[in-house]
Amino acid sequence: MVNGVFVGHYHYSLFAIYYSLFTIHYFTIYDLRFTIYPMIYLDNNATTRVAPEVIAAMQPYLADYYGNPSSAHSLGREMKLAVERAREQVAKVLGAADPNEIVFTSCGSESDNWAIRGVLEENPNKKHIVTTQVEHEAVRNVCKRLEHQGYEVTWLSVDKNGELDLDEVRTSLRDDTALVSVMLANNETGVLFPIAEVGRIVHEHSNAIFHVDGVQAVGKIPIELKSTEVDLFALSGHKLHAPQGVGAMYVKSEVRLAPFIIGGSQESGRRAGTSAVPNIVALGAACALAANSEGHETIRTLRDRLEDEILARIPNTCLNGIADRNKRLPNTSNISFEHVEGENILRHLNAEGICVSTGSACHSTTHESSPTLQAMNVPYVAAQGSIRFSLGRYNTPEEIEYTLKVLPGIIEQLVEMSPYAKGARAL
Ligand code: PLP
Repeated sequence: MVNGVFVGHYHYSLFAIYYSLFTIHYFTIYDLRFTIYPMIYLDNNATTRVAPEVIAAMQPYLADYYGNPSSAHSLGREMKLAVERAREQVAKVLGAADPNEIVFTSCGSESDNWAIRGVLEENPNKKHIVTTQVEHEAVRNVCKRLEHQGYEVTWLSVDKNGELDLDEVRTSLRDDTALVSVMLANNETGVLFPIAEVGRIVHEHSNAIFHVDGVQAVGKIPIELKSTEVDLFALSGHKLHAPQGVGAMYVKSEVRLAPFIIGGSQESGRRAGTSAVPNIVALGAACALAANSEGHETIRTLRDRLEDEILARIPNTCLNGIADRNKRLPNTSNISFEHVEGENILRHLNAEGICVSTGSACHSTTHESSPTLQAMNVPYVAAQGSIRFSLGRYNTPEEIEYTLKVLPGIIEQLVEMSPYAKGARAL
């Protein structure tokens, strides 16, 4: 730390040279430091840095344009046009048949909550929901709450690789199943569920609505909703380089969904509240950026290198999630370091300027293993030492090499100190 500020993983001495060469004001050097010594950010499943292109696109809507898109005057019309442009950009990245199938929301959690509650409100006589044991809290906790309110929930299991059993999906369906909610990509392991097949099964064997939490997938893998049986699909801006506070939901044209927020007629009466135009424009720009697959291969290559090297060079490590990389997000590796606390690894990496996460960010303050790893039957000693590395478009080969340079030493030191490892050695 210098003046209470993190300096980064590069040499302090280099910083000292800068500091003495340029006798400039602290705040100037503070800015300089951030340009030259950025953190190594390997936590892109938690949130992403807002892309410069996205900031440039939204900036005029913060500074110059200020009309309400519902107003009939020219300033209002200009804002409305911007919202509709963004709707087309979101529709394009999702492969939707019609931009009107896109509704803007405030975040992925709102989209997920709305999907579940909106379907149930439309189907008051159906009291059964099907979902998986590995959904994000935005789905899992809503379903748990509904269970307490009298709904019956079937929690589909996963195997040790984190994969679904499609027969179990089929046999779970009933006449009174209102909704099936299955994520596309798991936030902790990156494991992909075959939503096209799940959708076919749902619609062949029931009248249930099929909702997909696609929050982690958008911008990372190609999506073509119009050729699937997906009825509802949630996405979140901050996972794909738009700012926090904006999301969207795809609502297939023929699907009826009760509104979640009631008020004005914004979003064709489907979601009231004055549109957050700068954020919506940002989401559109982020989707346009994501639609361009340039850079995706680099992320995959860097992830593969990081994963291969950790598993090969560090003893007692194992991958959480299916080994077949075609069945996982290209940016995610969830690796367990046995006998070591994930929290300790996280703190030591952070001290080296590297940001990772212990499973889902929501678990980083609790000590129980994540429900996803529990559902996969990952043993406690491994689950406690699990680290999620999630890469993004700004990661460089140098950052991955630096991570590979410091990580083995950190693990060696922590294993040396670990009472669990001592116990295991004594056996
Ligand atoms: N669904 C998944 C799979 C997620 O990973 C997240 C966030 O981590 C959410 C939903 C919630 O999205 P938001 O943070 O935009 O509310």
